[in-house]
Parts: sequence; C-alpha cells; structure tokens
Amino acid sequence: MDRRNVEAIGVRRTGWAALDRDPQQDTVEFTCPHCGARDKKNARRERVLYRFTDGFLQDLQGEVTQCHTCKKQLRVVPIVMLHDQDEERRFEAVFAVDHLVHSN
Ligand SMILES: [Zn+2]
Repeated sequence: MDRRNVEAIGVRRTGWAALDRDPQQDTVEFTCPHCGARDKKNARRERVLYRFTDGFLQDLQGEVTQCHTCKKQLRVVPIVMLHDQDEERRFEAVFAVDHLVHSN
C-alpha cells in the first residue's frame, strides 16, 4: 500500500511579493493535487530552514496539510519563497506553473 502523500508545489510570498495581502499573514499557497482547489495554510517552518536551491530559497522538506475542500491529505513540497515579482515570474517559468499567476 502506498501511504506517501501526494505532493503539491507551495509558494510562500514575502516582502514585495506579498504587498497585495495582509502583512501579518504568513501563508503557503498551493493547488490541491486531489481536487484542484486553490488553498493555503499557515507557514509553520522557520525561514532559516529554507535552502538556496536552483536559484530560489526552498524548503525541500515541505509541510503536510489537509485540503480545506476535499479534506484529503497532501504534502506541500517544495515550498518556494518568493520575495518580489521578478522572482514570481522566474518561478512560474522554472516550475512551469500558471495557476499561481496573479489575475491582474
Ligand atoms: Zn482538495
């Protein structure tokens, strides 16, 4: 039986990349691999645990969470820290994700 968690890439915006939301919030955004819903969780891991990998600060251990929509468990990994729109654009190119693009 395969008990591994399904994985999703997470994004943790900080600094200039987080200007459009409450600066008190420190969240990891992801798209549920089970149902496709966009979700987010409170970031739990310390920023010092992030490692510079492939040009980004990443948490390669990730965090396990539960989708608010379908209640299934998943692992958000890697979690990529983005500091500004430049990094957001680069992230979207490198990881080939378009579902995290801002709608503006
Ligand atoms: Zn889900």
